[in-house]
Amino acid sequence: MERTRIAVSARWNGENKNCRERAAEWREQELPRARGGMERTGIAVSARWNGENKMDMRIRPRRLRGGENLRRMVRETRMDASSLIYPIFIKEGSGIVEEIPAMPGQYRYSVDTMGRKLEELLKAGVSTVMFFGIPAVKDEVGSGAYAKDGIIQKALAQAKRDYPELYAVTDVCMCEYTSHGHCGVLCGHDVDNDRTVELLAKTALSYAQAGADMVAPSDMMDGRVSAIRDILDANGYTQTPIMSYAVKYASGFYAPFRDAAGSAPSFGDRKSYQMDYHNSREGVKEALLDVQEGADIIMVKPAMAYLDVLARVKEAVHVPVAAYSVSGEYAMIKAASRAGYVEEDKMICETAACAYRAGCDIYLTYYAEEIARFIKEGRIG
Ligand SMILES: [Zn+2]
Repeated sequence: MERTRIAVSARWNGENKNCRERAAEWREQELPRARGGMERTGIAVSARWNGENKMDMRIRPRRLRGGENLRRMVRETRMDASSLIYPIFIKEGSGIVEEIPAMPGQYRYSVDTMGRKLEELLKAGVSTVMFFGIPAVKDEVGSGAYAKDGIIQKALAQAKRDYPELYAVTDVCMCEYTSHGHCGVLCGHDVDNDRTVELLAKTALSYAQAGADMVAPSDMMDGRVSAIRDILDANGYTQTPIMSYAVKYASGFYAPFRDAAGSAPSFGDRKSYQMDYHNSREGVKEALLDVQEGADIIMVKPAMAYLDVLARVKEAVHVPVAAYSVSGEYAMIKAASRAGYVEEDKMICETAACAYRAGCDIYLTYYAEEIARFIKEGRIG
């Protein structure tokens, strides 16, 4: 051991001294040396050992952590319920309030039952909702996504009629509507990018016509933001913003969502269009491209394990950045807290505040109502 570097910092003293003896030795021999060392360094300027049992210190970081009022005053991260978006699943049919097995506390609603949830959200201060549709019938080309009487088109019409104060964002993708569960139309076993973009644009226009305030393409096809901007503008929807799922990773965190929306691919995976989680520079490239194509807001998805990417994207773009805390993040916190391993409230607060600290301006989360409450109570934000 003495031949290694470890020996320099750790050496057996040959005896078997107990704690008290070692502490006494340290006080007599080591402490005076430590004091001298400290005085020679810059630290000595703000902190000096005064020879008694106290240090003379000008700068004490703990001073600003002394009480709840003070801690709240000096928070670096501020949050507001107006930046929260709640994802909601609307299923074809009536009288449906179905709990999603892998997401306890989250439900699929039909158009006639979604009102109770929307009211609850509005009352809590969450006025923006992201709609996901679950159609009765799926086909090869996902025609339920752009059908005039599609599930989302019906939900939008009713939601905007009953709750004009609601801000309705629609997810734009094909995976919930295709029989094979992929995010576009197929060419052999791969998704045909350019044909899919055409249908996505058609879907986005159809949502805008049905009353969507904002559209949010999540498919990860190349060029879709540009195509959607073109078709919206050509039809008079120049003021409808596009929130692009620009930096969306092929992630295991989506598993409970696929259960919720019935959108698991019947073969293969989504790695040819969603991003490889080893990459972050590529995320910046995707974000910049989408801004160039006309995206008004850039999203990073998932959130929890991708905050480095979020911070990097935030530095690179000059549009608002959203983070989507996905189903698997919700499910993990839910399951661990139900097992008694963690405290749910604390985990919700911490994960949300950390996403904002990393730079998100908008936060999509199944915990939107809870977070709005915690902000109101001053626990976070
Ligand atoms: Zn999809």
